[in-house]
Amino acid sequence: MKLYNTLSRKIEEFKPINPSLVTLYTCGPTVYDYSHIGHMRAYVVNDLLKRTLKFLGYKVKHVMNITDVGHLTGDDDTGEDKLEKGAKKTKKTVWDVVKFFTDYHFKSTDALNILRPDIICAATEHIKEMIEMIKKLTTNGLTYETKEAVYFDVSKFPTYGKLSGQSLSEKLKGARQDVYVDPKKKNKADFALWFKRVGRFADHSMHWQSPWGEGFPGWHIECSAMSMKYLGENIDIHTGGIDHIPVHHENEIAQSEGVIGKQFVNYWFHYNFLMVDNQKMSKSLGNFYTLDDIKKHNIDPLALRYLFLQSHYRQLANFTWKSIEAANEGLNKLRAIIADLKPSSNESYESDKSQSFTQRFNEALANDFQIPQALAVAWEMLKSDLSSKKKLDLLFDFDRVFGLKLDVISKEKIPEEIIKLAEQRKLARKNKNFSKSDELRKKINALGFSIEDLENNKFKLKTLN
Ligand code: AMP
Ligand code: ZN
Repeated sequence: MKLYNTLSRKIEEFKPINPSLVTLYTCGPTVYDYSHIGHMRAYVVNDLLKRTLKFLGYKVKHVMNITDVGHLTGDDDTGEDKLEKGAKKTKKTVWDVVKFFTDYHFKSTDALNILRPDIICAATEHIKEMIEMIKKLTTNGLTYETKEAVYFDVSKFPTYGKLSGQSLSEKLKGARQDVYVDPKKKNKADFALWFKRVGRFADHSMHWQSPWGEGFPGWHIECSAMSMKYLGENIDIHTGGIDHIPVHHENEIAQSEGVIGKQFVNYWFHYNFLMVDNQKMSKSLGNFYTLDDIKKHNIDPLALRYLFLQSHYRQLANFTWKSIEAANEGLNKLRAIIADLKPSSNESYESDKSQSFTQRFNEALANDFQIPQALAVAWEMLKSDLSSKKKLDLLFDFDRVFGLKLDVISKEKIPEEIIKLAEQRKLARKNKNFSKSDELRKKINALGFSIEDLENNKFKLKTLN
């Protein structure tokens, strides 16, 4: 399999450290507000990567953090803690805010059939590990302490900037004038490992004891500490949005490599944004839609997943209601085709043809993860002259990657009685007897089924939820 590696800026052959177990770390959500469909794009892409690795025969250990402290409104340590801000806005405790938005996040990812990580770890439950790591960095001469915080000194880490390709001298240049900055901070790019509960953070509600006084960790140290705890020093793949490249991931590298003295991550995998009106969909800009908004438009959450399958992860995707409605229709069409495919027992000889679809599907995945191309192969296969059984077999196999729950459709048993009523209704519609067709629809609904009219006088039956 070939993957684009942000570190080398090249598409590289993927070689895991341990061929029998791929280690994968994902930067998780900051749970101070609703996870929106921009986040869902990020986590669907992650899920597709994980499912692809599994499809290609790897075992995967996947860890994701939950940021529940220390992420300030400015990624460069400026502003206030997002969690404290969320608590003020909702007039709840920080802990209530964390619980509510973490639950909302997983409710959304479950609805999109995103497999849960093997380990989900909250920053606030790993304060001890973070303190230990800061101590090691201090022993290695990479930190300094002011009245306000403990900082990582980037001037002591010569390769700082290697992920984003910015030189260290560029990163050290002038401080911002418009926001509060600790007057004792040495370099602009130095970042806090530990904030003391003084000055602007004197009222910070989450705080712990540490060798540097009461306080709370900076945002970046959590990922270095938890990734090392659960996956070891050197890991295969680390994922996140492209916004994490210049600060968060650069800082994770400095912290982790500052402790272990060797390469931390072999493949950095970054996905591009979901946009709306040419701007990044984001909590801070307030231009976001949640999964509830999607449901309010009577759109199946899985249609969002289907929409995300249609763009390559390194490309920007633009969200419009028109595009999601088209995706909803596309998914329904796919389901209708499946419902119509009746496996027959007299299978003809066609293994060569089906193998070529499988091969092309695998090639698309192995080529930096071309999911849109893999989807096109699936559609082509459905339109081919393979037998119904073969088509279903292949499609359900491909759906191990797509994750659209396509097999659920065909497993749904519709009783004969309902099918008969639906056929009668079809006839009534054909004869333009609409009062009769309405009456039959009501009867079908009353028996616990919904009926949807498709093109060419076809219909689809489903159990009502
Ligand atoms: P946050 O909760 O802001 O820390 O973000 C969690 C993850 O979602 C990060 O990897 C972000 O890069 C990603 N993310 C946030 N907004 C978007 C968006 N509009 N499109 C795609 N990914 C996003
Ligand atoms: Zn992270």
